[in-house]
Amino acid sequence: VIELAEARRRVLAQCLPLHPRAVALGDALGCVTSVDLTADEAVPPFANTAVDGFAVRAEDTSNPPVTLPILATIAAGAPPEPALQPGSAIRILTGAPIPPGADAVVMVEDTLVDDGKVMIRVAIPENANIRPAGSDIAPGDLVFAAGTTLSPAHLGVLASIGVRKAPVFPRARVGVLSTGDELVASGDPLRPGQIRESNRAVIAALAVEANCVPVDLGVIRDDEQLISDAIEGGLADCDAIVTSGGVSVGDFDYVKVVLDRLSGNTMHWMQIAIRPAKPFAFGTIGGKPVFGLPGNPVSSLVSFECLARPALRQMMGHRNLDRAEVTAVADTAFRRHRDGRVNFVRVRAEWGADGRFHVASTGPQGSHQMRATALANALAVVPDGDGIEAGEEVTVMLTGWPE
Ligand code: AMP
Ligand code: MG
Repeated sequence: VIELAEARRRVLAQCLPLHPRAVALGDALGCVTSVDLTADEAVPPFANTAVDGFAVRAEDTSNPPVTLPILATIAAGAPPEPALQPGSAIRILTGAPIPPGADAVVMVEDTLVDDGKVMIRVAIPENANIRPAGSDIAPGDLVFAAGTTLSPAHLGVLASIGVRKAPVFPRARVGVLSTGDELVASGDPLRPGQIRESNRAVIAALAVEANCVPVDLGVIRDDEQLISDAIEGGLADCDAIVTSGGVSVGDFDYVKVVLDRLSGNTMHWMQIAIRPAKPFAFGTIGGKPVFGLPGNPVSSLVSFECLARPALRQMMGHRNLDRAEVTAVADTAFRRHRDGRVNFVRVRAEWGADGRFHVASTGPQGSHQMRATALANALAVVPDGDGIEAGEEVTVMLTGWPE
């Protein structure tokens, strides 16, 4: 039996970042930049007006009210013409370029237009309502350092400097495979001994949440050849494979036999000092990581959270691999007995009126009882020992966020 940290080290040591490539902005959300990004263009590209109003010389408004003839109108998208003559005004619309000769814009709310003339009621300081060229980004600026996770706003900045494809670590394609003779994926009535297959839905969704692309490799019967074919087929098309089922001590050995053979006997078959998710297998086949998760639904989810997710994030260039951990107040006791294993208790975390996170169990904690996991937005990390009393602090891994 090994500590989770040791298992994690073994896994991370073999999950190297994927080759960076240029990805269209529309497909780059959540991806991590692979190089420093520098601007070639200024934003805004030219001085323009922040308001609808009149371009003027500030000094012409110093004794309000003043009335100036309106020379022309400049709309957004038009060139900065004509030049402003002293003692006159040019009507100008938000985003339009500032004409030469003007050094301020008076907003339309401070004016009155009559018969081709504008009456300006207030004195306008120089540069008022003008957004200078490069006032957001100047050419040559470092816009985002390598290692930035692209948010919607980052994508907007890249679009604004003319970057149409971002250099990023690509999303990992993750093959998802379930094994077990008892599993039914169709909607057919269950025969005696059968259960409905559910792990693929969970693992594929966790992969999506982690910004990966899940690839469904199906539900495979406990048969060496079928399992081997499915894994080899998946490896041809994926960056990593996640299997569930068939890795515990008592299992029929098909997943083990196949993974040992395909990996050249380099799989690590681990027993990890956690509950749930004690059994776990990891190795690489042709350099591609293969995660063998236990079959029990809650165990496979916790395994993915603790081991596969950080590894996939590392492959996708993330430097911060883990979920946020916070200290919360236990609103109920988390009783347990000493057994050498860290417990991950499914809990609901809420903000308390005291400004702290509070957590309570979401229900029965068996590794087949997925409902309490669905109701949870966090895993409370209860260390080995007698547990945690109500009112004490507990470390919590946030898998979601209080809504
Ligand atoms: P195993 O790890 O194959 O021994 O499976 C452990 C438990 O998880 C058994 O009760 C299986 O029936 C169940 N199980 C395995 N795979 C799945 C799956 N894909 N969906 C739902 N339950 C599963
Ligand atoms: Mg099985």
